[in-house]
Amino acid sequence: MNREHLNDNDIQQLVFESNVADPKILDHLQGCDLCRKAVDDYGILLDELKSLPEPIMDFDVSEQILEQLYPKPERDMALNYIIYIVSILCLGIGAVIFILFLTQISNLFKVISDFKNYLIISTAILVMIGLCQDMLRTYNKKLKKLNFQ
Ligand SMILES: [Zn+2]
Repeated sequence: MNREHLNDNDIQQLVFESNVADPKILDHLQGCDLCRKAVDDYGILLDELKSLPEPIMDFDVSEQILEQLYPKPERDMALNYIIYIVSILCLGIGAVIFILFLTQISNLFKVISDFKNYLIISTAILVMIGLCQDMLRTYNKKLKKLNFQ
């Protein structure tokens, strides 16, 4: 019989992985009451741990995390409606101002020559198209980063 007592690692390995047992350990265990008692104590501890009820949380963790990662679309829809309403209001106000000052605006264009008119209008349209494309590209990039597409 091996006279050296079993260390904690050997005892835990014996209790928790009962199929892994060194013949020297088993030999020592048969002749040593102290080590057999330690093995029994670990066994009792393991049984007690197994008999404990599973911890139950009164909330769903995964749902809360997913909610934070992907906010519910209703909130986005509300924000979209606000943006649409503000955009429509701005367009309406712009249209009213345009109609009210139509004569002054047409007088302004009469003063400037035709060539300059086309130059100004085409430049403004090109700048607006460029800005819209850039805005759309940035929006798509942000969507991809957020993994919504
Ligand atoms: Zn021993």
